[in-house]
Amino acid sequence: MLIDCHSHLANFNENEISEIISRAKKSGISYIFSAGTDIKNSEKTIYLANSNDEIYCGVGIHPNRVTNDIKDNDFYKLEQLAQSSDKVITMSETGMDYMPNAPERKKQEEVFVVQITLAKKLKLPIIWHSQIPEINSFGNHKNTLDILNHEHADTVGGIMHYFQADYTTAKKAIENGFLISFAKPLLRQKHQKEIVEKIPLEHIVLETDSSPQPWKKNRSLWTEPKDILLIAKKIAQIKNISLETVMNATNDNINQLFDNKFKKAN
Ligand SMILES: [Zn+2]
Repeated sequence: MLIDCHSHLANFNENEISEIISRAKKSGISYIFSAGTDIKNSEKTIYLANSNDEIYCGVGIHPNRVTNDIKDNDFYKLEQLAQSSDKVITMSETGMDYMPNAPERKKQEEVFVVQITLAKKLKLPIIWHSQIPEINSFGNHKNTLDILNHEHADTVGGIMHYFQADYTTAKKAIENGFLISFAKPLLRQKHQKEIVEKIPLEHIVLETDSSPQPWKKNRSLWTEPKDILLIAKKIAQIKNISLETVMNATNDNINQLFDNKFKKAN
């Protein structure tokens, strides 16, 4: 079995969810973690998790959804939501975005810090976002890691999601107590091969970050949780090990983070 540790199923048309799950199951994906991006989206994500055995979820405010209107009441709602279902297992999606049009950094940081504090209070691992304009570089990922460090996020641990950075970033994230999640960029970004070669398997997990891709006219080309199999196969190929070894290791890594919650289907 395989686990997609980060997706956005709440962004898809609800009618499609059962088909997305069945396509994923055909490719050997047993569990899909779906992240919320704001209060409303987190509510919908919880609803999907409560209605489908295969879906677990996170609540969070995505750095790109940060506005100056976010107030204490929103954080209170987030806390209520996190406690509303035992299918909520992570604080996600939260983090920092340094792209040119991203929201004001000071406000992003404020919202990120509150969510780290909440994650620690509720003992939820954090699946965090850090995006910078350059791939294969450390750059402002240092700042994201400094915030996580300063707030002692390692006490709950978590996952650096959608990895596209350099080896230094991966190394520091691992040293700070986080797993590295590889997604489909691994299939096309040559620099990631060397990083996968260097990182021990016990720090690696897999994700798709699936969300609708309407610019792709052919619906069957949209990224979906089923594509985890492609990423797992790529890691097996790079490390010259079996697919089964990758499956077992990535599942063990998830189970270590979530107290063996996903052990039974192993
Ligand atoms: Zn995401």
